[in-house]
Amino acid sequence: MVKIYIRTQRYDEKEGKLIIENIENKEIEDKMNEYIIELDEFFGFKLKETPTVNIVPDRKTINYIRKAETRSHTIGWISGYNVFMLDLDKFDTESAHKRYSLKEYFATIKHELVHVYFYQLIKNPYPTWLWEGTSVALSGQYKPKPEKLSGFLESHFGHNYGPEYMIAPFFVKVLINKYGRDKFILLLNELSKIKQDKTEESKKVFYDLFQRVYEFELNYENANKLFLEK
Ligand SMILES: [Zn+2]
Repeated sequence: MVKIYIRTQRYDEKEGKLIIENIENKEIEDKMNEYIIELDEFFGFKLKETPTVNIVPDRKTINYIRKAETRSHTIGWISGYNVFMLDLDKFDTESAHKRYSLKEYFATIKHELVHVYFYQLIKNPYPTWLWEGTSVALSGQYKPKPEKLSGFLESHFGHNYGPEYMIAPFFVKVLINKYGRDKFILLLNELSKIKQDKTEESKKVFYDLFQRVYEFELNYENANKLFLEK
């Protein structure tokens, strides 16, 4: 068992600063340990620092830490090795989500932890569909299975808040199930060596890399052939 630091962070308007307190939460600590063992093995490397979990109580604090007006859907995010989560009890009042079950809440923590590994490996969150698709697929945040795969490749350098969460995970899953974990990790390792700098050229470099690793062109026709075949 590794010690997981769990903190609450609350923006105090009067003081004009964050009030940070360490708390104990055995359940979160146990789950984090379980996820770290699984993700070390999946990604094939250990994180250099032990991730922390930071619980925030309200939208005010989220916006203060993110230095932006965040979407009311934002309930978790990462910064380096820090996972941030809105307090489960505050979903109804501080987010557009209904209160999550504990299972959904832990799946979201795991989703964010997958982002920590992805970011440490690749040093950027692109392609966005692969960034979100990997997190949703590995955290077991099951969405209804679509009839076909569409729309997710459009989220390459940025979010569209739709198919990259709902559809891309099914493509990630089919890649892992049909070609294996090792090939998927090879894709990520090779991705870590190329630049993804929001230019069309760098997007093309990714498509070439994908074709080199999987030996088929990345497009919806091929994605669906894979998805629909028995
Ligand atoms: Zn995410």
